[in-house]
Amino acid sequence: MEFATRAIHAGQEADPSTGATITPIFQTSTYTQQGLGDNKGFEYSRTGNPTRAALEACLAALENARFGLAFGSGMAAASAVLSVLRPGDHVIAGDDLYGGTYRIFERVLRPMGVTFDYVPARETAAYAAAVRPETKLIWVETPTNPLLSLVDIAAVAAVAREHGAVLIVDNTFATPYLQRPLDLGAHVVVHSTTKYINGHSDVVGGAILTSDEHLYTDFKFYQNAAGGVPSPFDSWLVLRGAKTLAVRMRQHCENAMGVARFLDGHPLVRAVYYPGLPSHPDHALARRQMTDFGGMVSFAFDGTREDVDTFVRGLRVFALAESLGGVESLCCHPASMTHGSIPVEERERRGVTETLLRLSVGIEDVRDLIADLDQALGRVAHADARIPDTAAAAR
Ligand SMILES: *Cc1c(COP(=O)(O)O)cnc(C)c1O
Repeated sequence: MEFATRAIHAGQEADPSTGATITPIFQTSTYTQQGLGDNKGFEYSRTGNPTRAALEACLAALENARFGLAFGSGMAAASAVLSVLRPGDHVIAGDDLYGGTYRIFERVLRPMGVTFDYVPARETAAYAAAVRPETKLIWVETPTNPLLSLVDIAAVAAVAREHGAVLIVDNTFATPYLQRPLDLGAHVVVHSTTKYINGHSDVVGGAILTSDEHLYTDFKFYQNAAGGVPSPFDSWLVLRGAKTLAVRMRQHCENAMGVARFLDGHPLVRAVYYPGLPSHPDHALARRQMTDFGGMVSFAFDGTREDVDTFVRGLRVFALAESLGGVESLCCHPASMTHGSIPVEERERRGVTETLLRLSVGIEDVRDLIADLDQALGRVAHADARIPDTAAAAR
């Protein structure tokens, strides 16, 4: 079955006891057993729950994985992957990471004796150069956050396999609709389902997908042992959101391309970061590795932090907010919001400057989105007279 069909049907047969077409919310903590060791596959909802099981099967089908596990947040999913690490192990990570991932690496795992090396995310050779005998995991995001560079998944997977390391891809930004890392040789996919997979900014959730049975057994053990599971209702909401992933992603991509083209060449915009623009350094890789270019667009102002503040205060359709991937458009200032916990020199070195903004382009009418950006940019232009004010000139 094709992707859009799997999103609606995988793991979601009609309920055998009632015929309910939609997977019920099994709001129960426990299950009545027939006799000793004789049950219907469920004993206690931390260990397993039918609504969660349907979500896990659906997400596994979307990533072409044999196994899926759902969690109460993207970070809970990440922790389950990281639970395979032991003191003395080494991890290589791309340097343009989600701030929370960087935080758990540095503040939780490093004090426990795990070491980390960060390499420029898009330089494949840097991963090979950083490998050590004790390298256990390679962790990448692509497109990266917030600069939207790409990691060549197949090439980094080859490095991992040559050295017996496990490649983890955080596929939150791309979603399985645009990119399937397991097909490209990665061992594990991690998601914050909070973002595009749920798609409606009303749940926090996460998932792990893999076809490696040993890794799955370890992650499943940790899921039950540590207990960071999603509630039946949250599992149901994410399952419902995932049904429309294909149509939503098509519109996100179309709108993001329109917004990127509008910003590209605007006199107040110094740089636009969008893999769909032919000028993007990873455009060719994006064409090869992804089926479209995604809904995230970042751009740098040619101006001051005050100009950025004038702009965000002037937005009427875009909301100034963290997070991404919902149907509504958001604008985020990474330096003070999502990436605020990264030391300032480190942040600037990576290009996450005070004038960088990240847009999660929603699925509203793109004409309204462009008009909103245009009028908010206009406020900046009036504030510092950088753009000739035609109305004033006429007076
Ligand atoms: C949001 C996000 C996470 C963390 O997920 P939560 O659901 O917030 O715990 C991890 N990786 C990426 C790329 C994210 O955007």
